[in-house]
Amino acid sequence: MTERLEGRPVAAAIDEATRARARAGAAGRPPLLVSVHRDVDSPFRFYLKRQARAAAAVGVGFREEAIAPGAGPDALIGRLRALDAEPGVDAVLLEHPLPSPYDFSAAIATLRAEKDVDGVGAVNLGRLVGQRPTHVPAVARAALAIARHYHAPIDGERVAVIGRSETVGLPLALALAGRAEGVHATVTIAHSRTADLGRALADARTIFSCVGRPGLLDRTVVPRGSYVIDVGLSSVPDASVPGGSRAVGDADAASLEGWAGGLTPVPGGVGPVTVAELMDGAVRARDLLHGGPSAP
Ligand code: NAP
Repeated sequence: MTERLEGRPVAAAIDEATRARARAGAAGRPPLLVSVHRDVDSPFRFYLKRQARAAAAVGVGFREEAIAPGAGPDALIGRLRALDAEPGVDAVLLEHPLPSPYDFSAAIATLRAEKDVDGVGAVNLGRLVGQRPTHVPAVARAALAIARHYHAPIDGERVAVIGRSETVGLPLALALAGRAEGVHATVTIAHSRTADLGRALADARTIFSCVGRPGLLDRTVVPRGSYVIDVGLSSVPDASVPGGSRAVGDADAASLEGWAGGLTPVPGGVGPVTVAELMDGAVRARDLLHGGPSAP
């Protein structure tokens, strides 16, 4: 039997703690998270709805701001500068990826590290490398939280991260290998140029897949008994469901059933926990800015 690693109980535990901290913390008011996005149909739009719902559920203030169509990179940077300067705004999330001509890295660099709630700016990533993180990307913390909740073997173990993007795969690999999270895993990082994925994964007791390629992981590449935390999220056509498409991960769940030790479902695995970690990050941002209990 393959254990089903549901995200909801993990998210519920995080939410409970966040709700109490949102009420009790610094500045004498709830934290305010602002989510900046292009006003177009994209996976981020789905994520936005979840953010609004999750914020309301835990007592975090939430505002969304659309980048005006045709606004351009300078206007975006100007808007982010204004949010960075606005005293009532604690945390800012910027849609990612952004198409050309926007430059995500240049835009996010406009924010001070405390307000860069998803920890994807150069200062936050540098602090993660330096083992003194301010914010670690919510998706990386979510993957870790699920692994911990279900006792997937990570502490001091051989693990693999597939994907090396600077917003998902690399921060997760750093968090697993570094000292700050206390995991001390021995990490293999695989990517599109990895010559033999099966060989790269052969010793991994837990695999974190951060690719976005349905069917990438089946029993031909996953070692028997290992845990799979499926971060990947893709949309595949399915005429039998409303809207004509459904969300899938990187894992071929049917192939891994009865083979893997544990597997996160998609949807319902990493996604709900990522939103919960984002809200936790918003509380931390407020407390860092105003000297509350989450501040170091
Ligand atoms: P990305 O920037 O496109 O990076 C994908 C990574 O996968 C790259 O490092 C790429 O390698 C690697 N890759 C591509 N094909 C591969 C293959 N055949 N074998 C091994 N590695 C391969 O995507 P991202 O922003 O990091 O996001 C990764 C996935 O996580 C996406 O599906 C995204 O939707 C999902 N995601 C989920 C959540 C959530 O809350 N569940 C949050 C954020 C992201 P190269 O570097 O060599 O190109």
